[in-house]
Parts: sequence; structure tokens; C-alpha cells
Amino acid sequence: MLGDPPPPGPVRRYWKFAWADLAALPVVGAVDYAPKNRGAFRMFAEGKFIGEHLEAFSAVKTRKNLPGFGNCVYCGRGHDGDGNALKLTSEHVIPEFLGAGLELREASCFDCQKATSKFEVSIAQEMFDPVRKAFALVGKEGVLKKSNFPLDIGRETTEQEYIPLVHYPTILVMPVLYPASTYSRRPVNADGPFNFRLYNINADAALLQRYSLDAFSSQAIDMVRFAQLIAKIAHVYAMHHFRSSVFVPRVAEFVRTDFPREAAPPPHYLEHVGCLWQQLDGTTGNLHEIEVGRMTWNGSARRAVRVRLFASYGMPSYYVTVE
Ligand SMILES: [Zn+2]
Repeated sequence: MLGDPPPPGPVRRYWKFAWADLAALPVVGAVDYAPKNRGAFRMFAEGKFIGEHLEAFSAVKTRKNLPGFGNCVYCGRGHDGDGNALKLTSEHVIPEFLGAGLELREASCFDCQKATSKFEVSIAQEMFDPVRKAFALVGKEGVLKKSNFPLDIGRETTEQEYIPLVHYPTILVMPVLYPASTYSRRPVNADGPFNFRLYNINADAALLQRYSLDAFSSQAIDMVRFAQLIAKIAHVYAMHHFRSSVFVPRVAEFVRTDFPREAAPPPHYLEHVGCLWQQLDGTTGNLHEIEVGRMTWNGSARRAVRVRLFASYGMPSYYVTVE
């Protein structure tokens, strides 16, 4: 299936969390984390983010257009090789499937649009479909119409089962990452999540036992495409915010590259994307948040963006150095 990990090796791209004991399910309606009791772990010295401007997204989808950009935010082109103006499409800063309506006009060329929609579509389906349905998030075509989703009941590999949507156990799962190597002492090759932040929307052990299920797994997370998604949000918003002050964008190339599903993770794909462990964020009233600011580390200050999806459900902030 889509989310299966590749054969055992030094780097894993797909991650999921399996509940072998349903008594260990997080409490419905509460923020939790997993795995628990992991013992000692390494911490790394990390930078400090200073926010300068917050863009908040409410649970009710609101349409808002940012002024036209005029060339592609990813490849920088405004014209083709013959000098003809490229047709530039409007770009959603946070993908529309997450219920966000903020758009940057005239911002993406056809090739880059194709590349970004590829990872957005696969992340939407693999990671967020049941959550979108449970929260009734309004996407391009309104609320998701699909009426059932496969439930992964396997542990190491995938086994799928279908149960009625009304009883489908939906848990919002987001990875907590190590601080990125551009703003911490973390070695560039220490990839993979630290743990998972969870919000149990409706998974109920007693209900699942009625279907003779005694274990299931979270949605699978393709860490590479997830990192691309977070980097994309940060990059697009930064291009808009800093448009009058030029900087060298460092994550555009990563965002517009296709990393085929079967391929091993590219080296250093979490170079610019990570979490800060010292800067704790409480639950806020916003569904999502984007905050532009500076990341100070090692005597320098880089432009950076904090991206927090599902802030109102206690999910983690991701910090992206965009230069
Ligand atoms: Zn482009």
C-alpha cells in the first residue's frame, strides 16, 4: 500500500504509529503524544524564533487574495524561452484541502504547479482524508464526498479493512521533528520524526471491539512529501511577505522537485524544516497559523516562517528557514 515502509535500511521514509493495545488509545478530545516511555534521547542546542507577523486561519474557511506576484515563486520565471509571458496560476498558501482560503495570485507556472500539486494530492489522501471528513473541512469541491476510507490494521506492514464511516477511528497525527540542521547542532543526517503529536477525534476502543478489531495504525506519513508541504507553505508566504526585500530562497528547489514514492529519502531533506523543543506552543483558537520572523542561531538571523497546522488541536509548530 501507499504508506508501507521500504525494506529495513538506514533511512525510512514512511512512518505510522500502531496501537497494538486499544486500551492505550489517547483520550477522545485531548492532545497526546506517542510513543511513550522511549527513555533517553538526544537533545541538540537550537536557535530561537522571533515572530514578526502572524497570519491566522479560522475554522470557518475565509477567502482572501494576496496581491499578484507576477512571476513563479518557485522557479522565478515570468517568461518562457521565447520571451512570451508565462501563464501564472494562483497558489493557495496552505493547501485548500485543509480548509484554508488564502491565495497568492499569479504565483506559479504550469510546471511548478504540477510538481506541488503532486505531493499535495498524495499527502491529502494518505494523511488527512479521514480528518478532513471528521472536521468537515471545506476544500475546492466542498466537504469531502468520499464515504469510506481503508483502515490500516497491520503493524509493520499494511492490512486494510473497511468499517462504516460513522465508526471509523479518526486520530489526527502529526510528526514532531528534530530541530532543523540550519538552526541547531543536529547533524544533517538525523532525519525521521522524534515522536507523534495526537488528537483523538473519535477512536473508541469499545466500538472497535464490536468489529473484532484489536489493533490499528494511524495514517501513514510520507516524511519527504510532508516536509515539502510545510516548506511550500513557508516559502510561498515568505515570497509574498518579503517581496519588496530581496533574499535568496533556499527551499524553492526542494519544493518543486518530484521525489517518487518508491525512492529513498533524499539526503538532508530536513535541512530547513523542523521543530523547536524549547519554544512550546499551547493550543490557540486558530485552525492554522503562519508566522513570519527571524531564526537566530550561531550569531546570525535568517528569515524564517513558523507553520502550524491544526493549532486549535494542539499540533506542533514547524519552523522553516527560507533563506
Ligand atoms: Zn515555476
